[in-house]
Amino acid sequence: MSFQVFGLPVSRGVAIGRAVLVASSRVDVAHYFIDASRVATEVQRLRDARDTVASELTVMQRDLPGDAPHELSALLDVHLMLLHDEALTGATRHWIEERHYNAEWALSAQLEVLARQFDEMEDEYLRERKADLEQVVERLLRSLTAQGQPTPAPAVGPRDFGGEDPLVLIANDIAPADMLQFKKSVFTGFVTDVGGRTSHTAIVARSLDIPAVVGAREVSRVVRQDDWVIIDGDAGVVLVDPSPLLLEEYRFRQRQSELERERLDRLRHTPAVTLDGEVVELLANIELPGDAPGAIEAGAVGVGLFRSEFLFMNRDGELPGEEEQFEAYRRVVEGMRGLPVTIRTVDVGADKPLERMSVNELRHEHALNPALGLRAIRWSLSEPSMFRQQLRAILRAAALGPVKLLIPMLGNTSEIRATLEALARARQQLRESGRSFGEVEVGAMIEVPAAALIIDRFLEAFDFVSIGTNDLIQYTLAIDRADEAVAHLYDPWHPAVLELIRRTISASQAAGKAVSVCGEMAGDPAFTATLLQLGLRSFSMHPAQISVIKQQILRADTRRLGASAAGGRP
Ligand code: PEP
Ligand code: MG
Repeated sequence: MSFQVFGLPVSRGVAIGRAVLVASSRVDVAHYFIDASRVATEVQRLRDARDTVASELTVMQRDLPGDAPHELSALLDVHLMLLHDEALTGATRHWIEERHYNAEWALSAQLEVLARQFDEMEDEYLRERKADLEQVVERLLRSLTAQGQPTPAPAVGPRDFGGEDPLVLIANDIAPADMLQFKKSVFTGFVTDVGGRTSHTAIVARSLDIPAVVGAREVSRVVRQDDWVIIDGDAGVVLVDPSPLLLEEYRFRQRQSELERERLDRLRHTPAVTLDGEVVELLANIELPGDAPGAIEAGAVGVGLFRSEFLFMNRDGELPGEEEQFEAYRRVVEGMRGLPVTIRTVDVGADKPLERMSVNELRHEHALNPALGLRAIRWSLSEPSMFRQQLRAILRAAALGPVKLLIPMLGNTSEIRATLEALARARQQLRESGRSFGEVEVGAMIEVPAAALIIDRFLEAFDFVSIGTNDLIQYTLAIDRADEAVAHLYDPWHPAVLELIRRTISASQAAGKAVSVCGEMAGDPAFTATLLQLGLRSFSMHPAQISVIKQQILRADTRRLGASAAGGRP
């Protein structure tokens, strides 16, 4: 029976495919298709993993001390029974043989199927066996990892082995860093239960330019493995098990939006100039060094925001050292071929934890509000040697091309002072060690209302400012940007938000300092006219948005834009 689930539209376009349900904790499991000739090898890997786990469990049971509670041995019996149950390994084989999933993916797909069956059981004792099943699967996954993966074959898509269907990913939540690994993945769309429009998971989905809906609440409970699903990333609707008529209509819309994109792509190398001759700078927001060529390809005239924190995530506590960071920044600078690159110092915390953690886990693990805690520059200043390491790496990359340094989440003058002192020390250390480095313009992100309200002091201390509207809205309105429960109150058109943006732009212009917007507002065509009217001439956004915004700019006449910014509210 077909039905709809509503969420927040976060990444445009339409995706149609079969649902792959993935538990948040298993999003990082490798998902790739295997070639037909590899099916037998993959099934053998699964068998080997099962045998290894079986002998581990048997040894554990044999070695239990004599006084161990009887329940422990009984528990191991349950695990052994689950391990040999056809419903687990036999059915997992099916995903490998029929769908050509790699063994890890097949195993987690089958776990999702069984976990649901457990959830629906009346008997509480049986329902609780789900945790045992998860432990057994965890062991199997560990054993598969220990075997080492045969080289994944990212080039193999569903169609490469005979007309299989496209796939869309449904999860309770996906951590921002995990989202990045879907860049080259087999999924053509994403839906999550949790998240807000400017949560970092949504931002990464947009940067991947794949249709996505977040905050769809119960979606991962009501959709079943393999259901046909339409993701309408423009309207924020997920249509499950659609009728043939609906499928036909959405296929038509999908083709239309592809055509529209191709049409817009022709604007890639057209300069962004308004009808009345105002030149506008369109820059790219990127997350990884490998994104630089895509930014150039999209027609960006530089990088306005390189979110360096993605280099720091999911590393089991081992942060990248100066050399590794230098290499990453060098790649971006060289990749941008002489165009300016704005590197933002690490902004971890809030919904971007260093460890692999979803928003849900964060909520449960941190009773306090992480968005107001040790985040961004606050974290950097609390780790002075790590911070100087990053500053040195950025300064060294500046010897290779034009680099600007951007500091996130500053709110007061003591932080400004401490930041500039750290920078001076990093320069001094480089001088003393005789390593070459370049000059950088230094900028502050204006994303805390306090910063916008004392903008003149920021302008005295910095060469430029960049308005982070995602956080500016969150902190002005006291609305957690990652919380779907208050997403309806996250209002970029709120007069208080527009007033803070207006002040920042006009004060910067009066001081003769450059100002840009690098929050999601810059890449949203609904705000282009308003931002132009507020005097903004520099926008930084996901590369995929550049053509859309350019079209708005080419059509705009700044002399005719309305007097009131808030008048732009649709
Ligand atoms: C912002 O807050 O607008 C911004 C660009 O930074 P981030 O989204 O990474 O917090
Ligand atoms: Mg921010």
